Amino acid sequence: MAEIRGVGIGQGVATGPVRRMAEALPAPDDTPSTVGADAERVRAQEAIADVAADLNRRAESVTGSAQEVLEAQAMIAEDPTLADEVEERIVAGSTAEWAVHDAFAGFRASLEAVGGYLGERAADLDDIAQRVLARLRGVPAPGVPDPGHPFVLVARDLAPADTALLDLDKVLALITTDGGPTSHTAILAREKGIVAVVGAAGADALADDETVIVDAASGTVSTDPDAAALERAAARAADRQAADTAPPTPGALADGTPVALLANLGKPADAADAVARGAEGVGLFRTEFLFLSATHAPTVSAQREAYRELLAAFSGKKVVVRVLDAGADKPLPFLNDAHEENPALGLRGLRALRASEDILREQLTALAEADAETEADLWVMAPMVTTVEETVYFTALAREFGLRTAGVMVEVPACALLADRLLTHADFASIGTNDLTQYTMAADRLLGSVASFQDPWHPAVLRLVAEVGRAGAALGKPVGVCGEAAADPLLAVVLVGLGIGSLSMAPAALSDVRRSLAQHTAGDARRIAEAALGADDAASARAAATSAASSPAVPSP
Ligand code: PEP
Ligand code: MG
Repeated sequence: MAEIRGVGIGQGVATGPVRRMAEALPAPDDTPSTVGADAERVRAQEAIADVAADLNRRAESVTGSAQEVLEAQAMIAEDPTLADEVEERIVAGSTAEWAVHDAFAGFRASLEAVGGYLGERAADLDDIAQRVLARLRGVPAPGVPDPGHPFVLVARDLAPADTALLDLDKVLALITTDGGPTSHTAILAREKGIVAVVGAAGADALADDETVIVDAASGTVSTDPDAAALERAAARAADRQAADTAPPTPGALADGTPVALLANLGKPADAADAVARGAEGVGLFRTEFLFLSATHAPTVSAQREAYRELLAAFSGKKVVVRVLDAGADKPLPFLNDAHEENPALGLRGLRALRASEDILREQLTALAEADAETEADLWVMAPMVTTVEETVYFTALAREFGLRTAGVMVEVPACALLADRLLTHADFASIGTNDLTQYTMAADRLLGSVASFQDPWHPAVLRLVAEVGRAGAALGKPVGVCGEAAADPLLAVVLVGLGIGSLSMAPAALSDVRRSLAQHTAGDARRIAEAALGADDAASARAAATSAASSPAVPSP
């Protein structure tokens, strides 16, 4: 049995046969056809028709947004304008391969030039062109494979369109060679509760059909497992499933210290699942997710309806709503200037809202109206707060609208370092470890080449968390974490040891974190946190915490 190491997402374990995701096909050469236009025409028409039929077949087997994506792709494949473009090139002497490649690329450029919704469809054209090319060459189509049985998917990384289409009944586990714990793929795996090991560079060597054990808890992939290892993995998976279906209890440490376990949500429709998984409220409602495809600011009434639906699902419970966090990875055309050179350091979050204060005022109006109609305990917070002055601005404005509890997200190191000053004005702080890590480590959270820096276990990030935890304790103000770090079961214990009182995460992560917290007392959590803080880098912090968590406390003399 051999082992490949990476970063595990969650605590799951799964076993199955490998299926590799085919890589993108190289572009064809523009060499003239040797078989003549008639033969090339038949080849092109058959390949396009096959691809469209395949997309329609797959659309019929799924529902919701996956179905819409596939149906739209089938329609694009059969678009008569595209067929004319392909025909034109074939008549001029091109091969079917070149005609398809060039016609689709030309169509893609015109869609991009139109922008808006059509511009967003440009990437679909690449995907369809690749499928047609694969059919013409008789090789597997790039993208998520469909071998007709459950499998462990091995990929370099997943594109958003691939992830939207993942069939969770078929994909037993996910292994990527690239990406870190806060990559798009990792976030999605956590949301969907997929057993995953990311950043496992050695997975390049895995071959189709070989059996592997994917152990997210240890961040390992075992190849050529023996019967005993397979049995142990199956028993662990069964235990975990049993724990998942047990009625959830409120989050607490082994000594009974409460740690509120809250949900990160992007739309009200996800509230029911969060409640079923035992979410004690909402720690982060990402309002910008409601309006990502909007070209104009949403109306007060549309917003009020969405917030009312969310708050009604959490009657009597805390719901933390973040005002629009537009910019960088989540640009909103009505709030951001698309031409900034460095949008992560630009006018994003509260900065963008302040520049369009009418939009912020409308959002606070909608929140106050929804609050008045419902029984949840509404807290509002601002993203990307950097200064004391911004804190005073936002909390004063929220109170002007009658919103009782107003706080700040700590995502910028400057904000963490002055937490004691900021928290004299704000009612609470919520640490966004995804951005806090990005800005502390100077590593773009979307860039695979610097993914190894983007690790919230880094002691530099942990020191900043400790700073905010200390300030909250000194001033009696609640401090929570709502970044991906809260969903890592051992890091969750470290965060509590650093003074964090509530943890908010994708609902699928709640049960693993609940179980992990219940294994340690408050004293253990502080000791484990100290071990992590004393390390030089993220990997050693994780290792030090793992070893402190498995060794009992030394009794004081
Ligand atoms: C964060 O930055 O940690 C956070 C929770 O916000 P988002 O991931 O939406 O930027
Ligand atoms: Mg953020």
